[in-house]
Amino acid sequence: MVDLKGQYQKIKDRVNTSIMEVIENTAFVNGPEVHSFQKELEEYLGVRNVIPCANGTDALQIAMMGLGLEQGDEVITADFTFAATVEVIALLKLTPVLVDVDPVNFNIDIEAIKKAITPKTKAIVPVHLFGMAANMDAIMDIAKEHNLYVIEDNAQGIGSNYTARNGEKIKTGGIGHIGTTSFFPSKNLGCYGDGGAIFTNDDALAHTIRGIVNHGMYKRYHHDVVGVNSRLDSIQAAVLRAKLPHLDQYNKARREAARKYNNAFLNEENIITPVICDNCDCHVFHQYTLRVKNTDRDALVAHLNEHQIPCGVYYPIPLHTQKAYQDKRYNEGDFPVTNAIVKDCISLPMHTELDDEQIAFITSTLIAFINK
Ligand SMILES: *Cc1c(COP(=O)(O)O)cnc(C)c1O
Repeated sequence: MVDLKGQYQKIKDRVNTSIMEVIENTAFVNGPEVHSFQKELEEYLGVRNVIPCANGTDALQIAMMGLGLEQGDEVITADFTFAATVEVIALLKLTPVLVDVDPVNFNIDIEAIKKAITPKTKAIVPVHLFGMAANMDAIMDIAKEHNLYVIEDNAQGIGSNYTARNGEKIKTGGIGHIGTTSFFPSKNLGCYGDGGAIFTNDDALAHTIRGIVNHGMYKRYHHDVVGVNSRLDSIQAAVLRAKLPHLDQYNKARREAARKYNNAFLNEENIITPVICDNCDCHVFHQYTLRVKNTDRDALVAHLNEHQIPCGVYYPIPLHTQKAYQDKRYNEGDFPVTNAIVKDCISLPMHTELDDEQIAFITSTLIAFINK
């Protein structure tokens, strides 16, 4: 699904030198590399504060802790996403409220958010799923009207540019009150281990969070709040500093591969392709995900695997039906889109090193199966 080795070969010298420097300097934790990466990411994203942490799941948890959400507060998020998003809500004893998604862009459905709001609702967590920016204008409008926080789960969307209704382009993750991301190796900006970060333009909130990630300490050995230990290590920061200057190019390569896939599927009425808008970079294609009609999706997966084509089903089970997250309040009728997508979605290989020959082989194998 990804070609991390091919990508590494092209930046090997810089990465190796940077890692060796960290080892020579022995500043393994909170070293200068982490600080420099933080500054460079702030500049890239156009946000006032980046707080690095250990992974994208921690980033979400710390964001919710930083906002002071309390037991029983309701947090609305999408039924169709990676479980980390709902996991941290439940872990903090907040109440997850899962809602349906949009059938075209797979992101949280705006009308479903409106219907789910109660007096206990405190936050909305949109996920820029598969790299496509969620409808942030509408989400921020709802949040303003109901006095809610917005936490953007940007683990799949780093580098995506959202075009706001006034025409302004803003990087995802810096639009809501707080944004989070993951640097897991296969993400669009991946390190060589685990890593994550929290973003916010609110300086007071950033201060609160910098204490939370460091055991609730604002002054050495004075623990003002209950915190966690969540750090990005210096070696990972060194890798990320080597890769950040290439992120726009990486995302462009993904978008171009997506365009080639789409062109190959142009005349296939049983294949619903993702939308790629012209002159717009709101989609960074963390995944390239199709919906297939009149086709046995699981047989298609088996067929592609038989032909040594990796593929994935993200995600095969709606979160509201997962054992850990079932809740009496949900009605199946509230999730028609997620319930359909989990049965017909399939993600094809997507990375920065895909070439025309690979794309032609993948698309022709898939088309032959669908039309057999
Ligand atoms: C990967 C991912 C996370 C979690 O990131 P980790 O670094 O693996 O903890 C959270 N949300 C989404 C949408 C993700 O894709």
